[in-house]
Amino acid sequence: MNIIVQKYGGTSVENLERIEKISDKIISQKKNGSDLVIVVSAQGKTTNNLIEKANKYSKFSEQISSKKDLDFLLATGEMQTAALLSLYLNSKGYKATCLMGFQAGILTNSNFSNAKILDIDNRNIIQLLNEDYIVIVTGFQGMDKFGNITTLGRGGSDLSAVAIASSLGAKKCEIYSDVDGIYTSDPRIVENAKLLNSISYDEMLEASSSGAKVLHNRSVNMAKEYNIPIISKSSFSNSLGSEVKNEIYENSTVHIITKKDNVTKICIVGSMMLSNIETISKIYSLANSHNIQIYMITFSELAINLIVDSNIAEEFMKILHEELIEKNTID
Ligand code: ADP
Ligand code: ASP
Ligand code: MG
Repeated sequence: MNIIVQKYGGTSVENLERIEKISDKIISQKKNGSDLVIVVSAQGKTTNNLIEKANKYSKFSEQISSKKDLDFLLATGEMQTAALLSLYLNSKGYKATCLMGFQAGILTNSNFSNAKILDIDNRNIIQLLNEDYIVIVTGFQGMDKFGNITTLGRGGSDLSAVAIASSLGAKKCEIYSDVDGIYTSDPRIVENAKLLNSISYDEMLEASSSGAKVLHNRSVNMAKEYNIPIISKSSFSNSLGSEVKNEIYENSTVHIITKKDNVTKICIVGSMMLSNIETISKIYSLANSHNIQIYMITFSELAINLIVDSNIAEEFMKILHEELIEKNTID
């Protein structure tokens, strides 16, 4: 098979005009003889609007039940896009069908709102490709072992696309957004930013973990693992885009400058911190068990400083206080 996975983000599917535009790309690729899986995001600001709506209907807590309900709600955004794109392509005489994450076989853990993909049973997709369908899959969502709908974290459709591409052994995964590819800096901030032809998986992983949201960091990590080339391209132009792949550089060159917003530094002060392996490992295990990502950590004799997302910083401070001070189980 000659499988290509394409992913179209929120702005690329925002309205009928944009669906028409991306359909031209899909159809021309189909005419080239590719077996196509199309992963879509929710239209425009749909996900944000749904979150706002959920907040109006509930005083949203960290309770599992509300996170589960929220995932159920948010998953509807991608479903609308998948259905609308399928309706459009079929009306144009192309054989297309749409699948939710679970129908595409995406099994995740039960960590609602930030679920991890555990496995993909791709038999349904393969059968539909064999029947010559353009297979449209909702990005950002999967299903846990209990049959609950889960979501993969904001921006997670990139990860859905790369995961499906990896599971199918696709030739490449094309991620379409509103910029021509990966630039030396966010082109919306740095006017002179240059489009990169290519960048290594490792550098892109670092950049996307540090705010270059043109690609989701977990998608880059997975592409590296399975050696799937990612091509970041524009939905609106015919630019060749930028390829993320294995690169070997011998010279020292700066490739991307990025920034991460909405992060907070937590400072843990004490004595002999540098050599206290137990405290350090406890911090990591607490972050892990509460699904908190530590973006950066530094150590000195007097302090451990860590950088985490601002929206969970206060909660993590409480957890750290309880475990490292109140319980005081560490010498
Ligand atoms: P989508 O909604 O299609 O997933 P995103 O908004 O997540 O698209 O990603 C595209 C955005 O990433 C661009 O509009 C751009 O502002 C931003 N961006 C940040 N850093 C970079 C970079 N180094 N190169 C290209 N785009 C970048
Ligand atoms: N619609 C989801 C979000 O806005 C997922 C995505 O766009 O990748 O985060
Ligand atoms: Mg994105």
